[in-house]
Amino acid sequence: MISKNATYTLNNGKKIPIIGFGTWQIPDGQLAKDSVLHALEAGYVHIDTAAVYRNEASVGDAIIESKIKRESLYITTKLWNDNIDYRMAKAAIKESLTKLQLDYLDLYLIHWPNPKPIRDAWQNRNSDVWIAMEEAVEEGLIKSIGVSNFREHHLKALLEYAKIVPAVNQIYLNPSDQQEAVVKFSKKHGLLLEAYSPLGTGSILDDVQLNKLAATYNKTASQLAIRWSLQKGYLPLPKSANRHRIFENINVFDFEISDTDMKVIDGYRGIGKLAPDADIVEY
Ligand code: NDP
Repeated sequence: MISKNATYTLNNGKKIPIIGFGTWQIPDGQLAKDSVLHALEAGYVHIDTAAVYRNEASVGDAIIESKIKRESLYITTKLWNDNIDYRMAKAAIKESLTKLQLDYLDLYLIHWPNPKPIRDAWQNRNSDVWIAMEEAVEEGLIKSIGVSNFREHHLKALLEYAKIVPAVNQIYLNPSDQQEAVVKFSKKHGLLLEAYSPLGTGSILDDVQLNKLAATYNKTASQLAIRWSLQKGYLPLPKSANRHRIFENINVFDFEISDTDMKVIDGYRGIGKLAPDADIVEY
């Protein structure tokens, strides 16, 4: 049985903790700092933030206050869409490190493949910023680099020139939208799937069937969805700003979903929100 201390091994040989704490929509300040401190107390060692969440400073404050050794933690942040060239990406990496008060990032991702301001030129933008990210790896500022919200055509373009193959693709992934095509393509090329919105940003949690099935395991709908993600081999990133729910969401290592029930959950497509399309998002 997997434990909360388990790791996946990335395509560059580095280890990554199999569950991470999501921080989107937790406002910078006391709430973000406390939420991260609760997460660290609950046993998450992997924190997922992004420049656009505007809470990197509070994540950094929590890390310092926790007194946990830097090497024991795994910190991810992401390049926002307004950084559209090499120079901007270089500066953005430095800025995130400064806000997080860290010497290095464990993982850095291109947040979206096709930002609205450069919609006709996304290939050039991604190749430009990828070079900056590869250089940051060489400089020791980042351990692993990857992408987010990439579909097959975005990945194909990147793989043409990438000297470093992305280690992960972080995508919207939960029973409601299982993104079969991009999951298959990412796996084929050795990228680990990080499951963002493993609860569909909460949208799957009221589903009657999911709740009924969870009750048969004496677990909540949220715990069942997170466990499903882990048993699929994904890396779920549940978010909560509530201490009780932060603990609840990592309490998923004392039960196992049967093969039959995994298939039942696979059948829950459409119970909540669906994945956004990176080529048409408004940012
Ligand atoms: P989740 O799917 O994790 O769901 C979070 C929502 O569910 C919140 O409203 C939360 O409320 C609620 N919730 C959490 N746990 C429970 C529970 N046990 N019972 C009932 N309600 C619960 O949402 P996110 O969309 O935030 O995704 C998770 C993380 O993935 C993000 O925080 C971010 O780190 C990453 N992400 C990345 C994206 C990308 O483009 N790369 C895009 C979106 C997310 P409450 O806080 O009140 O508990």
